[in-house]
Amino acid sequence: MSLMGNMMHMPLMISSLLTHAARHNGDVEVVSKRVEGDMHRSTWAEVELRSRKLAQALGRLGLEAGDRVGTLAWNGYRHLEIYYAVSGSQRVCHTINPRLFPQQVAWIVNDAQDKAIFVDLNIFPLVEKLAPTLPSLKHVILMCSRENMPRETSLPHLLCYEDLINAEDGNYEWPSFDENTAATICYTSGTTGNPKGAVYSHRSTVLHAYASALPDAMNVCSADTVLPVVPMFHVNAWGLPYSAALIGCKLVFPGHHLDGASLYELFEQEKVTFSAGVPTIWLGLINHAKQNNLKFSTFKNTVIGGSACPPAMIRTLQDEFGVQVIHAWGMTELSPLGTLSRLKAKHAGLPKEQKEAILAKQGKGIYGIDMRIVDANGQVLPWDGKSAGDLEVRGHWVVAGYFNVDKSPLHNGWFPTGDVATIDADGYMQITDRSKDVIKSGGEWISSIDLENVLMGHPAVMEAAAISCHHPKWDERPLMVVVRKQGAEVSKDELLAFYKGKIPNWQTPDDIVFVDEIPHTATGKIYKLKLREQFKDHKLPTA
Ligand code: ADP
Repeated sequence: MSLMGNMMHMPLMISSLLTHAARHNGDVEVVSKRVEGDMHRSTWAEVELRSRKLAQALGRLGLEAGDRVGTLAWNGYRHLEIYYAVSGSQRVCHTINPRLFPQQVAWIVNDAQDKAIFVDLNIFPLVEKLAPTLPSLKHVILMCSRENMPRETSLPHLLCYEDLINAEDGNYEWPSFDENTAATICYTSGTTGNPKGAVYSHRSTVLHAYASALPDAMNVCSADTVLPVVPMFHVNAWGLPYSAALIGCKLVFPGHHLDGASLYELFEQEKVTFSAGVPTIWLGLINHAKQNNLKFSTFKNTVIGGSACPPAMIRTLQDEFGVQVIHAWGMTELSPLGTLSRLKAKHAGLPKEQKEAILAKQGKGIYGIDMRIVDANGQVLPWDGKSAGDLEVRGHWVVAGYFNVDKSPLHNGWFPTGDVATIDADGYMQITDRSKDVIKSGGEWISSIDLENVLMGHPAVMEAAAISCHHPKWDERPLMVVVRKQGAEVSKDELLAFYKGKIPNWQTPDDIVFVDEIPHTATGKIYKLKLREQFKDHKLPTA
């Protein structure tokens, strides 16, 4: 007979992260650049008190356990309070990306059946316009104080955030309940079909917070000042609002001010040590710093993920700015962290270029995530760094299904990510492509990420995207779409010559076109679908 452990059982509650932060690091600051334009300073203790008051207010509004409460908001202290008040009181926090097309926002609110929605001032016009198409919505709460409320509005149920808080006394105890209860919902961005809701539990969120803070993961601690550039509507800012409470560090929120100059100022002013965001954001910040000959005085580490981080960007941040990049891979269905690139002890003596090559990969699975690669027949492929296959994962914070969808996405208990990858003998995973983005030339696959990474290393190139283009003989061949740096001159032939020796010859792109701008998705990734659409009639010179 087995012997049972004799330990306390405490369900893993999201509210416990906040009460821990308030109790042990209550005076640590939470600083926000507000939509109103000014800076706001708060602390973990204050955030906890105001979250309790907000939880009381949610009850007063008649919102029940399990009810979905939406947010359309930038990164800021009120959004943080909503995260904790909604989930902590057993309701479900549903963050929505305001950069999506309005019809998509409406579709998502209706799918989730949000009963209330919290909105930042400058996103309010969108909600006012959409409100007649959102029948489930009972309350719209504007995230501001009384003096910023609009004088006139078409919404009869418009409420003021600070009024709601001021009406409560905070005499509220965070409830304890089944840790598998839904805490938050994030929708995938739906670049292929309708968005799908991933429903995270308290348990999955707390475990993700534990794992993501580890030294081999994000490596953040209470001595850090963390500025999540990644929005709180993009997979919960990669879990930082939770892991920051767990470690009790200072948090700095940039609001919607994400241009290079505003970010740089905030990094310096608040002595930020750690950040996280998609590669596109860093393009802006690096450019601003270079153009103005600026250096960072405290910024030391950043996680970059969401799409492949070009090795040239990792090198620039490290060599010119002293910022170490932690390349990470993940997705909405993984809450989002899956792998992070970190060196092992045995790599310590390697030459710089070899270390860089390892760190450029998407990295090792953190404990809590298992992965494998399979071929088209579902056969498991070896971890040899060469065999490329469909990447599948399973683990404590991986979805088992989608909200309102009966069909399971799983494949024999594994979640198929839609990414194509290799895994080497040391466990480092490298994404070659999203399966729908790979370029199929004859029977061979060409990695669009490899082609982009080469050009991103060219001094005249600001941004590069590789897409497949129809070819009568090879079916598909690579076409590069390139944005040149401001004032930089470079020709197509020079760029094609730049590929020599960096990739196998047969993979060299067939053509290069220069554009003023590359389209991005609502989460700041290169919008390949749109690019392919844009260049669908492009005639390759080799055709
Ligand atoms: P969406 O892009 O549809 O908004 P996600 O934000 O969940 O959805 O994106 C997940 C996808 O982003 C992954 O499946 C992968 O294709 C891509 N991705 C994320 N991080 C990386 C990375 N470091 N390198 C390459 N691709 C990445």
